[in-house]
Amino acid sequence: MTRLPGSRDDAPPWPLLSRRGRGAYLWPMPILIALGVLALVALVFGPQAWVRRAMRRHAVERPDLPGTGGELARHLLDLGGLKDVPVEIAPADHYDPLARVVRLSPDNHDGRSVTAVAVAAHEVSHAFQHADGDRLLMARVRLAHVVRGIEIAAAVVFASAPLIGVLVKSPALFALQLAVGVALLLSRVVVHALTLPVELDASFRRALPILDQGRYLDPADLPAARSVLRAAAYTYVASALVTVLDLTRLVRILRF
Ligand SMILES: [Zn+2]
Repeated sequence: MTRLPGSRDDAPPWPLLSRRGRGAYLWPMPILIALGVLALVALVFGPQAWVRRAMRRHAVERPDLPGTGGELARHLLDLGGLKDVPVEIAPADHYDPLARVVRLSPDNHDGRSVTAVAVAAHEVSHAFQHADGDRLLMARVRLAHVVRGIEIAAAVVFASAPLIGVLVKSPALFALQLAVGVALLLSRVVVHALTLPVELDASFRRALPILDQGRYLDPADLPAARSVLRAAAYTYVASALVTVLDLTRLVRILRF
């Protein structure tokens, strides 16, 4: 039987198959895995990069501003009746609720920029939260103690595991390591979940109105301050995401 070229019988069945096959060819497994890893890295490190960028962008020296971050922090604390809370220079900006100290990085302590002023107002706001007995801040402080305890327990368990493993070959040891690891991770997640509302309150309910109503910044600088304050509030979220990597470290420890 002769077939005309182009008739149905003549057409090989591959076009239909190849539609599915083409997808598999364009997206082979290694590429999908690489994309997945890339997405994870972006998710974990992206926010931190965003925070740093927002801080850097507005860290330009502004001689027209009335003072440095450190000077503003001191001024605001005195004004708020917290003369006994010192302002110190430290590697990273934070408020230490245990020592009751506002700590600013050298750039923000001595810098005269929108970033320096906004970060100073943010950290001072934590001192005000503390003085007001902010419920979430206090819960976070208490929980931080618990996390420290779990961290010490985890360090002891993981450090002694190889030794104990030689003496007793027991799945109970593995279960203990796993339990400590999961407890550590969960407690950190809870601390970070409590932290975000505290951070948003410090940035937007306290620091921004202080900068605006106290006229410490020109209205034209407020959008920049707002972006720095947003970055300051999400610094913790960004670092919380990075601690996800602790999970991979944990897995590594458990396997070797
Ligand atoms: Zn903060």
